[in-house]
Amino acid sequence: MTRNEDPRYLGLRKRLVDALKIKGIKDERVLQAIGNVPRHAFLESSFLHYAYRDQAFPIGAGQTISQPYTVAFQTQLLQVEPGCKVLEIGTGSGYQAAVLCEMGVRVYTIERQRELYVKAKALLADLGYDPLVFYGDGYKGLPTYGPFDRILVTAGAPVIPPELKFQLICGGRMVIPVGFEDHQEMMLVVRNSETDFSTEKHGAFIFVPMLKGTVN
Ligand code: SAH
Repeated sequence: MTRNEDPRYLGLRKRLVDALKIKGIKDERVLQAIGNVPRHAFLESSFLHYAYRDQAFPIGAGQTISQPYTVAFQTQLLQVEPGCKVLEIGTGSGYQAAVLCEMGVRVYTIERQRELYVKAKALLADLGYDPLVFYGDGYKGLPTYGPFDRILVTAGAPVIPPELKFQLICGGRMVIPVGFEDHQEMMLVVRNSETDFSTEKHGAFIFVPMLKGTVN
């Protein structure tokens, strides 16, 4: 998406993209999407200067916007195609959803904290992105909207939630950090058939925990 903005941000974003390349992100479409999303719009104003550093930041309600490298890594592993239907668990600031929208996918995203849901939904619309944003418990997925080609979980889950596995199409991929507290393993889950799933491990990451239920 093209928009009028301060050229300083364009320069900072280009530098961020270069840093992600150096760290091993190769998918040009992912890099292009990160180069297009105004990350500074997703941060509290006191963090504006840090918006294009490769770091996670607080977004309120005890949550964080993921580090750009983590967003890029998960998105690259998801292997999305334009037009594919993607479910994201953990809308948070809405940044990851915006990156997916830039890649031409149909995004469905769920957040369990009402405050973040309200804020992200309004911000994404203001920026011209059109994901469907839901307030609810991501452990349940969105059975009435599924199945999905891809599922991306952006909070650390203690286990791979079975409800989510079964909302993937056959051939579909889910990327999910699995583990406890401040250490999770990035897992890729592929649904091979109605009943057969394979999993692969893709390194250690740190996420805020995926919690059950909703918060008002
Ligand atoms: N994708 C976000 C970062 C997410 S941080 C971004 O780009 O900014 C993880 C988010 O997951 C938090 O906002 C947290 O409230 C949310 N979360 C945790 N457990 C959840 C659940 N069961 N369902 C939906 N959202 C959940």
